Amino acid sequence: MAANRKLLMLPGDGIGPEVMGEVRNVIDWLAAKRTVAFDVSEGLVGGSAIDKHGVPLTDNTMADAMGVDAVLLGAVGGPKWDSLPFAQKPERGLLRLRKEMELFANLRPALVFDALVEASTLKPEIVKGLDIMIIRELTGGMYFGTPRGVETLPNGERKGVNTHVYTTSEIQRVARVAFDLARKRGNKVCSAEKANVMEAGVLWREEVQKIRDQEYKDVELSHMYADNMAMQLVRNPRQFDVIVTDNLFGDMLSDEAAMLTGSLGMLPSASLGAPDKQGHRKALYEPVHGSAPDIAGKGLANPLATLLSFAMMLRYSFDQDAEASMVEKACTNVLDAGYRTADIMQPGKKKVSTQEMGEAVRKELAKLVG
Ligand code: NAD
Repeated sequence: MAANRKLLMLPGDGIGPEVMGEVRNVIDWLAAKRTVAFDVSEGLVGGSAIDKHGVPLTDNTMADAMGVDAVLLGAVGGPKWDSLPFAQKPERGLLRLRKEMELFANLRPALVFDALVEASTLKPEIVKGLDIMIIRELTGGMYFGTPRGVETLPNGERKGVNTHVYTTSEIQRVARVAFDLARKRGNKVCSAEKANVMEAGVLWREEVQKIRDQEYKDVELSHMYADNMAMQLVRNPRQFDVIVTDNLFGDMLSDEAAMLTGSLGMLPSASLGAPDKQGHRKALYEPVHGSAPDIAGKGLANPLATLLSFAMMLRYSFDQDAEASMVEKACTNVLDAGYRTADIMQPGKKKVSTQEMGEAVRKELAKLVG
């Protein structure tokens, strides 16, 4: 069986190896039952890399990440490494991957599963059936713009400066990701900025509109001020399909949208780079949650966010929509059947471990194949 899909798995720290183990089992299952084979390699990132090599990501692992079609990461960090200087912390490994792979588009779906609709802090009638995709620009804007820093003024006051800056090409490339994704979903994009008070917001609005008018006439585009979007997300979130926004607003709006679903252990994400000559994008997939040191090694972690990140990988890096939908459907079905890890436990449901949840997903996959 030809395995031309190269995948690097970086389990990381805490619950990372546990949840990633369940992805590995699904990969083995796919290879056996669907003849979908991956050329899988594994590496260290974060605290585990610090313990072995003294750095959170070695040059070799970085080179491996650059050479594969997709990277799947668990989580990094933990109290063991908290006292290290900022530049040596586990998180630097993840930041280096994002930076050197030039992952400029962060995709965060906010999906409410019917079985978990009660987990949201919003009323079920507001969030039932919610399925939105937030695309956050990840490498520009306020977090990277210069000048930046803190200086002391002649009068002794201190001044802190960060700069919100975007060029047309930075806006256009993330807008294209949004429009491409919308075509695979509900064909609707809403772009958020603060064009009422920020010149860079005016530019953002104009450039997104320009790309829509020139290249994506079939996709519906609307614009919204980011503060209004923050309100609309809790008032009527189902009005949105794909949302595209900058780094700063995206940081906040994607966390807000994530919490509409009510459960951290269920949230996948993807970060995409620019397409190469063959149209292939560098890509990193990871659950939104962290390394959860409080539950690590106890079989309590919910593996579904990582399995759903793997499903995103099948869809966006390998064009395997059928297999992606199967994995997503299997996750939905185990929830409908009442299986719950501790983080999403509800009265009357069947409490299961990480491994049992993974096994239940594989049984559902087997049923779906028939
Ligand atoms: P966290 O996401 O690790 O945990 C927050 C809470 O949610 C904890 O109570 C945890 O037990 C629970 N939780 C998270 N994922 C879960 C899962 N899959 N199943 C069941 N319960 C789950 O966030 P934190 O506690 O703020 O951070 C812990 C460590 O993770 C820190 O070192 C932090 O820097 C790191 N972190 C890493 C990433 C990443 O790797 N991308 C993201 C966030 C935090």
